[in-house]
Amino acid sequence: MTEEFDIIIKNATIVDGVHDAFRGSIGIAGERINKVGDFSGDAVRLIDATGLIAMPGFVDSHSHADNNFPWYPDCQSAIMQGCTTVVAGQCGGSPAPLGEYIRAPMGLSDELYDLMPFVYHSPSPLVSLETINELNKEKYGWTIDWRTMEEYFEFIRNLGISMNYAPLVGHGTVRYKVMGEDYKRHATDEEVAQMKTLIRQAMDEGCIGMSVGLDYVPDVFADGSEIDACVSVLKEYNGIYAPHWRRTGRRRNIGRGAGYAEPLEGIVEVVETCKKAGVKMNMAHIAPGWHSIPPMTPHIGKTVGEATLAPLDEAIAEGHDITFDCIPWECWEPLPYLCSVHFTQFLRLQGSREKLAEWLKVEEFRKKCWDEIESGKLFQRVVINPCLNAAHWAENLYITKHDKQEYDGILLSEAAEKMGKDPWETLCDLIVEDPDSRGSHKDYRGIEEQMKVFFKHPRCTVGLDVSVCDEKWERRHPPYSIPLPDTYSGYTKFLIRYVRESNFISLEEAVQKCATLPAKFHNIKDRGMLTPGSYADVAILDFEKLKIVGIPEESRNYPEGTSYVIVNGNVVVDSGKHTGVRPGRILAK
Ligand SMILES: [Zn+2]
Repeated sequence: MTEEFDIIIKNATIVDGVHDAFRGSIGIAGERINKVGDFSGDAVRLIDATGLIAMPGFVDSHSHADNNFPWYPDCQSAIMQGCTTVVAGQCGGSPAPLGEYIRAPMGLSDELYDLMPFVYHSPSPLVSLETINELNKEKYGWTIDWRTMEEYFEFIRNLGISMNYAPLVGHGTVRYKVMGEDYKRHATDEEVAQMKTLIRQAMDEGCIGMSVGLDYVPDVFADGSEIDACVSVLKEYNGIYAPHWRRTGRRRNIGRGAGYAEPLEGIVEVVETCKKAGVKMNMAHIAPGWHSIPPMTPHIGKTVGEATLAPLDEAIAEGHDITFDCIPWECWEPLPYLCSVHFTQFLRLQGSREKLAEWLKVEEFRKKCWDEIESGKLFQRVVINPCLNAAHWAENLYITKHDKQEYDGILLSEAAEKMGKDPWETLCDLIVEDPDSRGSHKDYRGIEEQMKVFFKHPRCTVGLDVSVCDEKWERRHPPYSIPLPDTYSGYTKFLIRYVRESNFISLEEAVQKCATLPAKFHNIKDRGMLTPGSYADVAILDFEKLKIVGIPEESRNYPEGTSYVIVNGNVVVDSGKHTGVRPGRILAK
């Protein structure tokens, strides 16, 4: 006899995205859920979910997975935390349309550096496709042959991916395609017309919207009328505008005395664009709208959080369809070595951390390093930039691992107090003592009261702002980057931090933010819920045993507690292990 179900998940606590949590079973036939509740029946596969929680697979509202699918089709880092769908192509970058010069892929960053070394900044973010393909062929055995989104989709369909992909086209990618290497200027009317044609084509090919990266090259060179004109195309398609708003302002030559932009203006700017075009908008990765000069306190954090949301709340009250996403980890960046960021150029010149540590014993050299920081030649994030954040930079820098254990897990400012020295001398001393010591930086979002204001908002979803990867990737060259912690444990962190440990939001609310709302807002049909008729995208978690593995700030480990993950009715994580199947779909319109 043939079984009624392919899979029955029994004895689960089910949080289905619609109702309060309840106990029951989920029956899956083919790619869809066809029964939920109290029933039994015959199934090819029975998953006993006693003690486990079944919820809709997470829908990441802000992902860069598309730039790594061809290299990591198993999408390990996302799948292993229960994420089954990504809205990808964010911050202005998508895999197509491509011209003859393209952005450097992550998987070739070391090879490109070997070929074209630099001291401060790569001379161009663009590399010829011919060069990329030569290197890629040698390292990975294949070449980038797609030029349009449709051709990219075809490539991905042939390769297979483990998760679903809702595609955006990136305005920055379109701009590169039209302007090539001559992108550091405003576009002409004719070029804007060409961009609109390319965006229309990408939308016709199935993209669900368009992203922009207003802080990044090349979008940072676009004027408002170009952005408005390009966003207006989306209206014809009921497409979604996904802006990375202007938060950092200028990123080069930020020396002593340079002022910084008030980020709030960047929020007002994207809200205006959304209103003018009359389109839906998901604003990327919310962050504080102001930099605060007095030391951050819970009260200041909360107030800044509320004021940051004000322009969005006003527009929502006027009837505009707006959501925004927020990143779970308060730490943006594992450095990962304590010396990685403030000394990158010297690491490049001297060739090793040991050599740097040797030279840091020399007073003259220390002074030279400080002069370099004051000159602003090397980009440093605001929070750990001694020029921009003289008062607090050392309070944002964690020492995650040091030979002298007394420094493990404390802030640079605390270490400075212990040593009785200023933070700069302390940093140099710590590197001299242990060149391989590890570090990470947090930022203002680390103020819990502020994060809570963001996350509690009914229009806030969880977005990880990372790509897909395995647990091994790191850059061989300085700054020796490793993927951000959200890559491996963003959802795990969110659930542990806001549901299990603080009870700040309920599990039902968490499911809304991690799955239901992002699916609904992005017009992703029949996902983000575990109701009969929905696609069988399911995350089954051992909620009590959810655990981030390793040193959190530099974790390249998959979390514990993700028991099963099902994508389109196929078991992709089975008893905590990736099965290697690739049942993901491209959710093109
Ligand atoms: Zn971004």
